[in-house]
Amino acid sequence: MTSLLVTDIAELVTLDPQQADPTSSPDVQALGLRHDAALVVDDLHGTPTIAWVGSAAAAPQADLAVSQAGQTVLPGFVDSHTHLVFAGDRAAEFAARMRGVPYDGGGIASTVAATRGADDDQLRTLLAGRVAELRRQGTTRVEIKTGYGLTLPDELRLLRLAREVTPHTTFLGAHVVPAEYRADRAAYVELVTGPMLAAVVAGGDAAYLDVFCEPASPHAFDADESRAILLAGRRAGLGLRVHGNQLGPGPGVRLACELGAVSVDHCTYLTDADVDALAGSDTVATLLPAVEFSTKHPYPDARRLLDAGVTVALATDCNPGTSYTSSMPFVVALAVREMGMTPAEAVYAATAGSGRSLGLQRRIAPGEPAELALLRAPSHVHLAYRPGVPLARPLVG
Ligand SMILES: [Zn+2]
Repeated sequence: MTSLLVTDIAELVTLDPQQADPTSSPDVQALGLRHDAALVVDDLHGTPTIAWVGSAAAAPQADLAVSQAGQTVLPGFVDSHTHLVFAGDRAAEFAARMRGVPYDGGGIASTVAATRGADDDQLRTLLAGRVAELRRQGTTRVEIKTGYGLTLPDELRLLRLAREVTPHTTFLGAHVVPAEYRADRAAYVELVTGPMLAAVVAGGDAAYLDVFCEPASPHAFDADESRAILLAGRRAGLGLRVHGNQLGPGPGVRLACELGAVSVDHCTYLTDADVDALAGSDTVATLLPAVEFSTKHPYPDARRLLDAGVTVALATDCNPGTSYTSSMPFVVALAVREMGMTPAEAVYAATAGSGRSLGLQRRIAPGEPAELALLRAPSHVHLAYRPGVPLARPLVG
């Protein structure tokens, strides 16, 4: 077992409040910052695990040693909302939107057609490229949804491919109503909640079920349809995630809280009742500001959620229609500039917050997995202070 000493770390973001400077502000305390720090990683080439954390001056010996003078080490980003298994390209739709054509979810059909037409190896290659791209930017955990198959065999295929690269997989057969069911939506809901869900559960490749609950879109699902789909998923033993309140006020957030979803994602248009429901629940509010960047919708109000005591997460929603970025640093910068988050709150939401929605604790402490990111910068603030600069990369692996 090879061990590695990482020393001279200018700022170490432990996410361990016991490490915090009690004189700093609460948002910074949550990051558990240490300065002039060091850590030891054991089993570097097997299952890298943190063995020791302390001051650089007191660092023990290890087989290998590397100095990260002037740099920041933090838990790797957790991207808890992506749609990475797809084929095709929607750059023309993006360009049209920048000319003023509004987004209503209709373009998803073109990705469904391209994805159904691609074979497993083509999809596997595309997926591997996207996963490599997000890892290069410091993301160490990723959730991946289906939703571009929308037939029983295609949804199973996308789940199987996603499972090859992550344990955090989500069945999103209820992404949109496919064109062939437009005249009989109820039949599609029956397919998703019946034979499709049964096959998904039998296949064992899904951890969660998700639904695009958005009555404002003719392509997505209304409150009753979403409730039926979520209840079926819960009965089948899957965790629940919800796309809600993206395009306008709607029932998604309250439904997610009522049914015990682990996360409700987007949360762009919220009423006071929605915020109260989130604050009174364990449901994480996952904000996806790269979507608002790409659709020209107003950004969600993270400040309002944080002030109400809601757990906020950040993720990319990487998908070919509304957010074709794999960059968590870009999302952090948007959250700070556009959503009222402090740099510390945004880093927390992109690691601990998004981790919580996947049942992961992100903490740099002995015994924890060494899933770490390195910033070529003296503090976490640089993620928002220097947007668009490739500061983040994986520290191990
Ligand atoms: Zn999404």
